[in-house]
Amino acid sequence: MDELKKCQACGGEATSYGGAISCDNPNCGMMLIYMPRELWQRRPLEDALTAEVAALREALAKSHSALNCALNPRTPSDIMLAVKYLEGIEAPPEAE
Ligand SMILES: [Zn+2]
Repeated sequence: MDELKKCQACGGEATSYGGAISCDNPNCGMMLIYMPRELWQRRPLEDALTAEVAALREALAKSHSALNCALNPRTPSDIMLAVKYLEGIEAPPEAE
C-alpha cells in the first residue's frame, strides 16, 4: 500500500484509523474530517503539476545541453544540431 499523502490543507502528517484518514495537526480543520483512503490519496491537480514540472525540467536540461553544445562545439555539426533542437522548442503557455 502506498504511503499516506500529507494533508492537502496544511501539509501535515496524516493517520489512518481503520481506513478513514485524518490530519494529525490539531490546528487544521481536516483533523475533524475522516476521509476514505482513496479520496485522501486522490490529488489530480498535484499529480498533473508534478508531471508538468518533470517534463519542464527535462526540457530545461535538454535546452541547457543544446546551448552548451552551441557555445562549445566539438564539431561544426554541433551548432546546427543545437539550433535545430532549440528551434523545435515550443514556448510555454502564457501565465494567466
Ligand atoms: Zn491538515
